[in-house]
Amino acid sequence: MENFTGKAAYQGIAIGKIAEMVKADGAIRREHIDDIASELERLHAAKEQALSELKALYQKALKDVGEAHAEIFEVHQMMLDDDDYNESIEEIIKEQKVNAEYAVATTGDNFADMFASMEDEYMRGRAADVKDISSRLVADLMGGGADANNFTEPIILVADDLAPSETVQLDKDMVLAFVTRAGSTNSHTAILARTMNIPALVQVDIPKDVDGKLAIVDGMKGKVIIDPDEDTLAKYQVLQEKEEEKRRLLDEMKGKETVTKSGRHVHLYGNIGGVGDVGYVLENDGEGVGLFRSEFLYLSDTDYPSEEKQFQAYKQVAELLAGKQLIIRTLDIGADKQIDYFKLDKEENPALGFRAIRICLTREEVFMTQLRALLRASAYGNIAIMFPMIISKWEVETCLKMLNQAKAELDAHDVPYKKDISVGIMIETPAAVLIADELAELVDFFSIGTNDLTQYTCAIDRQNQHLERFFDAHHPAVLKAIQMTIDAGHRHNTWVGICGELGADPELTEVFVKMGIDELSMSPTSILRTRKIIRDMD
Ligand code: PEP
Ligand code: MG
Repeated sequence: MENFTGKAAYQGIAIGKIAEMVKADGAIRREHIDDIASELERLHAAKEQALSELKALYQKALKDVGEAHAEIFEVHQMMLDDDDYNESIEEIIKEQKVNAEYAVATTGDNFADMFASMEDEYMRGRAADVKDISSRLVADLMGGGADANNFTEPIILVADDLAPSETVQLDKDMVLAFVTRAGSTNSHTAILARTMNIPALVQVDIPKDVDGKLAIVDGMKGKVIIDPDEDTLAKYQVLQEKEEEKRRLLDEMKGKETVTKSGRHVHLYGNIGGVGDVGYVLENDGEGVGLFRSEFLYLSDTDYPSEEKQFQAYKQVAELLAGKQLIIRTLDIGADKQIDYFKLDKEENPALGFRAIRICLTREEVFMTQLRALLRASAYGNIAIMFPMIISKWEVETCLKMLNQAKAELDAHDVPYKKDISVGIMIETPAAVLIADELAELVDFFSIGTNDLTQYTCAIDRQNQHLERFFDAHHPAVLKAIQMTIDAGHRHNTWVGICGELGADPELTEVFVKMGIDELSMSPTSILRTRKIIRDMD
């Protein structure tokens, strides 16, 4: 028995035989040609064939995994049509008098290297896409077409890396899990695996000679166990059955409305920390994203993310959600979320200190950069903006003034954005609860951050595990604050949701619905369970 670990791209347990992915022979010879015109003709014919394959793949993906994920094959069509890419191939053929296969492979490598060296994570991810389209073009030039991996029994697929087109072409009923030696949890392939509901691990240091061996993929722990002993196998079989039973029951909730028996509808959204989490929301049939913690973009960087970098990230999430609601919370750092390059002073009481909106309203250029990025991305989806840690009316008014200023800057350059973009605030301080009537007049929605609201209402540090005895997640003061917020919001036509952890607490779902909550946003894996509770309510 041998263990190998990597990063989990999607949870779940799979038990089965390993099949190493068969890829086309990559040997491409450089051949001298004399007839440049007919080589170019051959290239154009192969390109047409590749384009029609991509169109067919788009249709297949549309059917299997939905529009948001199918879009990658439209992107591939656009990349294949890109002027720079095509000019590079044609120039190599003409200037070096070489075969089209060699020119395509060289261009593919050059473009992939260029993308891979870019700072922007999204652009780096495009390296795999340009390699993918180049391999397709080469395969079509060689008359081979796409790889055939036709399995006769369900297998655990092991590969060095998987391109999105390879992933989607696989017969998903025949794949128990994906394990790749390279790859990132943010790649389209990882997103596709989540959407297809297939456990996936990336960056696993698994040897090459594993084809045909029995293995267990533990997507919870990011582990592959090869040749498991009997005890381990039995333990995982039980675990797998339990997982499957749970999923079976909850799967029945997919596609159903979140509505009580008496007809009250509640929106169920997912909380995400980055683009890699969108798949979880879609997989669990979330109606959208109720909290995108944008600070994770800043936390995963070594310097302030540029407006362009943020724009690309927000746009990508918006496009993956394909028109579903996407509420992006502006930067919420300080307290437990420290970032070196912000160079924040050490504080006596960080939870009560320089954090969240207080930083944004002080370091205005950091805030304006984010606001412009958010507005620009709003042209690509149903984005709403939410401000955290509000305690006063003037803070909201200043945020709105700065948002208007950002809009004016974009207008001056004719940059499109959603003119009627919704704006909301987090209600996570007792001060905000007590003046909720006044705040409600300023915004379109409230989202109650119960994690901080509990901390500040009960004066209990949410980070301190020694206070457990005093901590009551269902403290009546917190529940009363939630009711007050809902009532105040509704008096002013402002819808009210919960995006703190309490929103997913099954013991409180009924209580919140009875209080009149309009939306609950939670970790995506809790969505279907909550839907079931609401649908079972009278
Ligand atoms: C909250 O405070 O409840 C919340 C959702 O925000 P965070 O947990 O990111 O502080
Ligand atoms: Mg909070």
